[in-house]
Amino acid sequence: MTVWPQSLRARLTLWYTLVLGLPLVAFAGASFLVLDRALMHRSDAFLDETLGAFTTELASEQIEEPTTARAIASSLQDVRFRDVRLAVFDPLGVLVMAGALDSTAGYALKHPVDLTRLGAELRRNPGAPRSVFSLGQGERAYRVATEPVQIFGKPYLVAAAYPLHHDSETMEAVATAYVIAIPLLLVMAALGGYFLATRSLSPVAAMSARAAEISSSNLNERLPVGSRRDELGALADVVNGLLERLERAFAQQRRFMADASHELRTPVAVLRTEADVTLSRPTRTETEYRESVSVMRDSAQRLGRIVDDLFLLARADAGHLPLRREPLYLEDVVDEAARAVRSLARERDVRVQLLPLEDSPYDGDADLLGRVLLNLLDNAIKHSPSGGTVTLALTRTAHEYHITVTDEGAGIPPDAQPHIFERFFRADKARSRTTGDPTTGAGLGLAIGRWIAEAHGGRLELVTSSANGSEFLLALPLSGPGHGEPLGASPEERGSLVPTA
Ligand code: ADP
Repeated sequence: MTVWPQSLRARLTLWYTLVLGLPLVAFAGASFLVLDRALMHRSDAFLDETLGAFTTELASEQIEEPTTARAIASSLQDVRFRDVRLAVFDPLGVLVMAGALDSTAGYALKHPVDLTRLGAELRRNPGAPRSVFSLGQGERAYRVATEPVQIFGKPYLVAAAYPLHHDSETMEAVATAYVIAIPLLLVMAALGGYFLATRSLSPVAAMSARAAEISSSNLNERLPVGSRRDELGALADVVNGLLERLERAFAQQRRFMADASHELRTPVAVLRTEADVTLSRPTRTETEYRESVSVMRDSAQRLGRIVDDLFLLARADAGHLPLRREPLYLEDVVDEAARAVRSLARERDVRVQLLPLEDSPYDGDADLLGRVLLNLLDNAIKHSPSGGTVTLALTRTAHEYHITVTDEGAGIPPDAQPHIFERFFRADKARSRTTGDPTTGAGLGLAIGRWIAEAHGGRLELVTSSANGSEFLLALPLSGPGHGEPLGASPEERGSLVPTA
């Protein structure tokens, strides 16, 4: 079992308290030591001053008084400080004379310094120079300073003792203050930290509660964004952004499914109706059967095209559509596409004009590039008036190959132009679905074409479209298809297959 709390709030509080508490305790300890030393210094300086005054007095008394005893007695009489006990010892530590205590001396009078012990201490260090030391314990602890003096030519030791009790009292008061104040401060810090942590983390609780309620059916819900300026606000924004992208992706997916089933329904309905009508009578003529089967074949053909396109889109979306790049000549691809639409053009009385082509070596996927051109030509022919011309040209600029497909059709309505590269978009929806024309697409051709162009590092765009005709451009970079990049790597990079709008 770990002592470390699991909740982030508790952990933050603990950290906060520790970070505040450790320096606080260290500071208290250090300041306690510093104060102790400062007080000791103060006592020592005081004793120093006292001894100085006493030795000066002793020197002058030797002039005025005839004997050692009188000189000492006189000096002890004159030099008095509250709570300080002055005494003169001989070099062997035997007490010669001690000063009386001032009548106002409080503590030193109650707990007088042990002069016998002091003498014994001095005896241990005979002839010691000036020294300062502590003597005794508890209530009888004294700080003592000694100084060797000469009285009428003979050596003596002068000692001044000052009770340490005052300093201990101060230190005790400080220690008591610390012992009360530090835990109190820490408790306050912990409470404050807990309160702050609870406050700052409350949006997280709100966010996780809301996030737990969000599923695919209510992706329109968003996380609450408390304060937009802090990190949690930013996190909520990021998650909301993610939800928005998910919602959009889900909506696109749903629309795609709806559009796809809608597109598939028409040819399936045609097939079924045709079969039902044909079978409604017990017998039919061979011509009737042939007509019916031919309608069914056209529908199956259309169904096949749509399924093919959907399959290609699904694989591209999943990143499973690799480009098979190989060295090729673009003029061959262009030429082949022009030949492939010859019969459709003839059927519609449209001329396909192929402008002179020059050698255009390129690294690309011949099948997919052919597919783009076929779709562009197919659209151009279908939208051309009878007797019109579709022009196919391949040119080279400094950085790109340009393949243009120009027709003389009625053009694409301006409001439809921004949408023609979207999936399932058809400018003339109603007409194209009901004609039963097996070559009629599901509005996926340009979306697929744009994806193929971008997968090659190029672009597919509508250059112009007016009542006099339209021109589409497939531009491919001379350096080849985005060299080194795996094609269909990620849906975002490819982009074009993701339905816009
Ligand atoms: P479809 O399978 O319907 O041809 P596309 O994605 O190839 O789908 O084209 C989308 C729509 O753009 C077409 O339905 C048509 O309305 C319009 N379009 C494309 N090319 C031409 C063109 N050359 N002239 C007029 N309209 C065009």
